[in-house]
Amino acid sequence: MKKTIVDFDLNSKRVLLRCDLNVPIKDGKILDDTRIRASLKTINYILDNGGSAIILSHLGKIKTEEDKEKNNLYPVSIRLSELLGREVLFSNDTRGVELENMVSKLKFGDVLLIQNTRYEDLNGEKESSCDLELAKYWASLGDLFINDAYGTMHRAHASNVGICKYLPNGLGFLPNEEISKIDSIMKDTTHPFIVIMGGAKVSDKIKVINNLILKCDKLLIGGGMAYTFLKAKGFEIGKSLLDEESLDYCKRIIEKYSSKLVLPIDNVVSVDEDGEPFEKNVDDINVDEIGFDIGPKTVKLFQDKLKDAKRVIINGPMGLFENEKYCHGTKAIYDYITTNNIKTLVGGGDSASSVNKLSDASKFYHISTGGGVTLEYLEGKDLPGISAIDEKEE
Ligand code: ADP
Ligand code: MG
Repeated sequence: MKKTIVDFDLNSKRVLLRCDLNVPIKDGKILDDTRIRASLKTINYILDNGGSAIILSHLGKIKTEEDKEKNNLYPVSIRLSELLGREVLFSNDTRGVELENMVSKLKFGDVLLIQNTRYEDLNGEKESSCDLELAKYWASLGDLFINDAYGTMHRAHASNVGICKYLPNGLGFLPNEEISKIDSIMKDTTHPFIVIMGGAKVSDKIKVINNLILKCDKLLIGGGMAYTFLKAKGFEIGKSLLDEESLDYCKRIIEKYSSKLVLPIDNVVSVDEDGEPFEKNVDDINVDEIGFDIGPKTVKLFQDKLKDAKRVIINGPMGLFENEKYCHGTKAIYDYITTNNIKTLVGGGDSASSVNKLSDASKFYHISTGGGVTLEYLEGKDLPGISAIDEKEE
C-alpha cells in the first residue's frame, strides 16, 4: 500500500503538491475547468489541516520560446482562486530568488501556484527527462510532497517522480481513488469477468487487449474496431473503419482465443454518416456501406454475455455515439449495466464522455478520469508516478 495524504500531519507544513492543471486554454480563456475542480479536494484538505500548498503543474508542451505564452499557467491561478474562494499567489518563475522569497513569506493556509513546470524543458528538457538537480531544487521548497496528478502518472518527470527522492511523499485523493478502484476490478477474483472494447483503432488498444484477454472470461468487441476483426474473419466490411496494419494481429487473436472472443453479428450501416441507417447482418454489408453501430441482435448477444457478470471493464464506445443515429448500441449496453447494477469500470476519454452523454455516470462503479494513464495501467504496466511513492509501513 502506498502512503497517501491522510498518513501525514499537515499542520504547519509546506506541502509541495503536484496537480494536473493541464486544462484546455484558448486566447487566455479556460475552455473546461474540470481538472481544476478535481484538484480542489486535495488542496482544501491541506489548507483545512493547517498546511500551505505550493502547487506544481505542467500545461501543454514547451518546445520553443513561443510555446511559453499559450501555455502560461497564470489564467489557471485566477480560476483556481475563484473556485477556492481565496487568494492564489502566482510565481512566474519556476526557480530563483523571487520564487524562494514568495515561499519564505507563505503563511499556513496560503496557496502558491508555480509557473508551468515544462518551462524547464527549454533548458535541456529538465522537467521531462527527470533531471534530479531540478527535482532536488523543487523539493527544497517544501516539507513534504503529495502527488495528486493522476493524468501524468505514466510519465517519469522531475515534478512527479524526481521530487519523491528528496522528500517524504504520498498520493493525493485523486490518484488514490483511481488506483484503488481500478485495482478493485482488476485484482478481484470473482467471475464472470467481462471486458467490452470498442472505439476507433485496434492498434491503439493492442496492449490492453493482450493483457485483459488473459484475465477475462469473455472479450466483447464492438465499435469501429470490430470491423478489422470481421475483415480478418473474411467478411466484406465495405467502407467501415479498417486498421489494415492490425489485420494479422486480429487473425491471431481470433485463432488463439476463439472461445473468449465475441464479435458483432449485425450492424447499423449507411452509405455515409448523414444517409439513412439500415440494420444488416455481418455477412450482408455492401462494398459501399459503412458500419456505424452494433445492431440489435449484437446488443442482445452482448447483453446475454453480461448476464451474471460480476465485474466489467469497458474501453471504447460501441459506435459513432456522437451521432444520435448511431448511439443506440452503446446506450443499450450502458442501460443493461445500470439496470442490473453490474460492477463496471469505464476507462478512456471518449468512453467517459459517452457515459456522461447517454447514461447516468453515478450508477457506474467508476468512470476513470485518465486517458493515456488508465490505458497504460490496464495494459498491466507499472506507473512510474505511483511506483515512486513510498510504501506505507505496516
Ligand atoms: P476511448 O477514448 O474511450 O479510448 P477511442 O478513442 O478508441 O475511445 O474511440 C472513440 C471514438 O471511436 C469515438 O469518437 C467514436 O465515434 C468512434 N467510433 C466508434 N465506433 C465507430 C464506428 N463504427 N465508425 C467510426 N467511428 C467509430
Ligand atoms: Mg479517445
